[in-house]
Amino acid sequence: MIITDDHMHIYKHLKLKAIEEFKKAGGTHVFLVNLLTKNYNIFPKKGEDFKEMYEKHLKIVKQANEIVKAYAVLGVHPAEITILGEKIGYKKAAEIMIDALDIAGKYVEENKAVAIKSGRPHYSVSEEVWKLSNEVMFHAFKVAKDVGCAVQLHTESYSKEGIEEIAKLAKKAGLKLYKVVKHFSPPKVDEFEEIGIFPSVIAMGNNVLRAATISSRFTIETDYIDDPNRPGAVLGPKTVPKKVKELLKMGFDEDFVLKICKYNIEKVYGVEI
Ligand SMILES: [Zn+2]
Repeated sequence: MIITDDHMHIYKHLKLKAIEEFKKAGGTHVFLVNLLTKNYNIFPKKGEDFKEMYEKHLKIVKQANEIVKAYAVLGVHPAEITILGEKIGYKKAAEIMIDALDIAGKYVEENKAVAIKSGRPHYSVSEEVWKLSNEVMFHAFKVAKDVGCAVQLHTESYSKEGIEEIAKLAKKAGLKLYKVVKHFSPPKVDEFEEIGIFPSVIAMGNNVLRAATISSRFTIETDYIDDPNRPGAVLGPKTVPKKVKELLKMGFDEDFVLKICKYNIEKVYGVEI
């Protein structure tokens, strides 16, 4: 059986052991996303400085690939605007983030990564920072359109209006809406279907089951962050396999699982499983 976790990190707690655990529980495919530059002790002064993080991340993904099939997602966490902006000014921070997204796009062109990461802050920010963040995210959509890849988004908490606004920006950039993945989605898969953005449902509580009773148009993730200060957060690496097995027990068949873990993934990311 194919079991895919759509969004996980490897950082400094279990490291590759997390991938081993995922595999042992039944996991077969995983999308590994880089964290923030500060997590790699990098303090970028220009977009080019993100390369060091990308390279470090790709090295981990390569190692993970010896355990399961692991795909790299490279990009810029939206909180970088606050971290960088406080030091060098928000406008300059946005410029650096835009350059770093261009570089992430190049890695996708070289087939070293399958998607890029962007978004906008999940915490409240000034109007200026919000506007700049939207510009950065819009740029990510343009990069994704140009290189033909998906974008994983880290955004504010779900609201239908928020997702509609994001969809409008993606459309303006010419990017197909199913190539825009809202990471950490609630199980409101019907609303996502209506709008067009693709939900990666966070496998908390009954989310997966609730999503499955509505539609098969979603993927599943743990957002495991592998941080020793928050062990097991957001969800442990075994969670997606566990939730998939629960679905089978609840009467969903293997074709249903195949849709979520293989066909949806293939469609969104353009990979072949
Ligand atoms: Zn994450």
